Order: sequence, then structure tokens, then C-alpha cells
Amino acid sequence: RWTADKVPAGPADPILGLNDAFNKDTFEKKINLGVGAYRDDNGKPWVLPSVKEAEKRLIEKGWNGAYQKEYAGITGIKEFNDASVLFAYGSAGKVIEEGRLAVAQVLSGTGGGRLAFEFYARFVGKNVPIYMPDPTWANHLPMAKDAGLSLQTYRYYDKNTVGLDFNGLCEDVNNAKDGSIFMFHACAHNPTGVDPTIEQWKEISSLLKKKNHMVFLDMAYQGFASGDADEDARALRMLVEDGHDIILAQSFAKNFGLYGERVGCFSMVAGSKNEAERLLSQIKILIRPMYSNPPIHGARIVATVLNDPALNKQWYSECKSMADRIIDMRKLLKSNLEKEGSTRNWDHVVKQIGMFCFSGLNPEQVDRLKNEYHIYMTKNGRISMAGVTSKNVEYLAHAMHQVSK
Ligand code: PMP
Repeated sequence: RWTADKVPAGPADPILGLNDAFNKDTFEKKINLGVGAYRDDNGKPWVLPSVKEAEKRLIEKGWNGAYQKEYAGITGIKEFNDASVLFAYGSAGKVIEEGRLAVAQVLSGTGGGRLAFEFYARFVGKNVPIYMPDPTWANHLPMAKDAGLSLQTYRYYDKNTVGLDFNGLCEDVNNAKDGSIFMFHACAHNPTGVDPTIEQWKEISSLLKKKNHMVFLDMAYQGFASGDADEDARALRMLVEDGHDIILAQSFAKNFGLYGERVGCFSMVAGSKNEAERLLSQIKILIRPMYSNPPIHGARIVATVLNDPALNKQWYSECKSMADRIIDMRKLLKSNLEKEGSTRNWDHVVKQIGMFCFSGLNPEQVDRLKNEYHIYMTKNGRISMAGVTSKNVEYLAHAMHQVSK
């Protein structure tokens, strides 16, 4: 007879486990630099005013009107899907105009990625390797493995330059078996904060084409990187213009601050409208037995914000204010490290893009920060810059200097 006592305890999630430890810590100056969620300069979560306004308008429509709680279809809310792909692709490659996108609302970025991997497993083949950057967001690996895919990595980050290993990346794209799957972060690479330049993206694009590789793009930070959602979509749009039939997973967790609402969009570029319809029919067949249909509330909020010109404009400036605060904190962290007398080169702190700073601190130093200074970050030295404020940056710089001098 099977009994549950045969099941061993699994390890805590490396990022979410850190939160538990932080919550138990009673030290007054403790700092949480683990999970990638935006905080304001008082260290508090922030609901964007444009999001609050959209939510208010939805409720004002009345419980029997637009605000009913009926199921969405398998692929979610149409207004959201339309607005979401326009937000990402713009007019790139005329894919929207020509009806060449298969689109489904999904459970945020994780759900979009997992759906993409399930699609590859079923229609491309579990034996076709999927290449991910080394390093990548920790959850990418089990997401692909649980879908049964054959996981490989490509070189991405160069420890010595604290930047992109562009030659290594190109070599790995070139040496992979023709027709492999390559996953990229569309902008604000997590955890390194290192992105290719647009010129480098162009070279990557032509190599990918030469090798007939498939492209999966994970876009969890559109707008969050530069503060301008169009700027952050440049790589994606260039790849589409260049003729790649990409799969894209968009998340609205960070840029709209809708983390727990689980708002995301899956889209796949097809060769024709007819092909897109066929793809969508299969995507529905994948979704239906997994979770039937996606949650409605957050998607309605995003659709309301994106489709109302005034709210849309307001959102752009709110998103920019989040990106700007993070960029300011990067500068403050670097200058405070210098004030502490650190002679290490901290240029990467200001050069890196997006929510994270790949600090270069080693696991021993990360442990000392936790044990001696009550500062929590992942073992790989990744700092969530959103946890840094004008009030704690001095203490953080002091501690970082003490453990790294
Ligand atoms: N991709 C990357 C690179 C991420 O950093 C995240 C969030 N940490 C996600 C995807 C997905 O997050 P969510 O499922 O909350 O949208």
C-alpha cells in the first residue's frame, strides 16, 4: 500500500524560501533583496494609481454589467489579448495586421513559459534541445524539465568582464544542432541585468536564422528596464521583422504591479492567418485540461489601462517612475560603496539593466551579509534593486564593503 510517509521533504524554493527567513528575522534594519517585486522608497509595495483607477472604473460598471464573474473562454479576455500583443509587437512585421498571431491569455509569465514548453514538447519534440542562458531565472529550468524537454545552456555571462559573453553566446548558437530551441530574455535579463545591444541582437538574429533555430522570448520586464515599454520591446520587434516565428511569453506582474493577479499573454507568430488558427486550436487543447481558463480580474485591469488613451499615458509615466527609482538606487549604491572606501570596481552596479544587480558577491559573502547584517539575497549574489531605498542604501553599502574588502 502506498503511504504518504514515503514522500521525502523537498528543498525550499531558493527565492521564496528566502522570504520566509526574512519574515522571521526581528532585526530592525533587516533588508530583503531577494524576491523581484517593486518597492517604493519606504520599502512598501506600490499599487499603481492607473491600476487603481482602472479597477474603480470596472467596479462602477456594476455587478451585472461588465463586472460579472462569468468564465472567460479558454484563451481569456479578447480585449486584453488584443491590447497585450499591440503593446509588445507594435507594428512589427505586420503580424497583427495579417492575423498571423495565435494568442492566449495565460497565468502570468510562468504560465506563458510553461505553455510554450508544453507546446514544444508536443509538436516539436522532447528530444529537440532547448537552450537557456547560463545563468537564467531559477524557475526556467524546472519549467522546461517538467514539460519533458531536453535542457541545454548557452554561454551568456562573463564573470571577468561582468558583462555579456557575446562570443561564447554566438559560438553556442552556431554549435547547437540545427533547428534547436533558443530561449532569450527579451529585456532586463534576470539575474544578470546584462542585455545584448541592438547591434548584437542583429548578429544573433542572423545566426539563429542560418541555423534554423526556433526562438522563445520571455518578456517579464517590458517598460521596467528603460522606463519606456517601446524601447524595451526593440529586440522582440527586430526579431519579428527579421522573420522569426517566435513564441513570446509576456508578464504584467512587474510593469503593472499585478503580481498575484497572474496576468500574462502567450503569443506565437505563424506563417499565415490559417496557420495561426490551427496553432490556436492546439493551444486551446493544451490549456483546457491544465486549468480550463485564466483568471479575469487582472486582465480586465490591463485591458482598461492600455485601451484608454489617458490611463495608458498615465501608466507610461508611472512605469517610468519605477524604472527611474531603480536607476537612482543603482547610482546611490555605487557612490555609497565608494564613500565606504571600497576599491573594487562597482561600475556594473550602474551599467546593468532592470530590477536586478548581479553584484559579483560570492556565496560566502552572501552568507555573511545574512548572518552578520540581516541582509537577504540569493546565493548567486543577485540583488533585487527594488529592495534598496534612500534610507537603507548606506547600511547596505557599509555591509557590502565589510564583507568584500
Ligand atoms: N521570467 C522572468 C525572467 C522572471 O524574472 C519572472 C518573474 N520573476 C517571470 C518570468 C515570471 O513571473 P510571473 O509568473 O510572476 O509573471
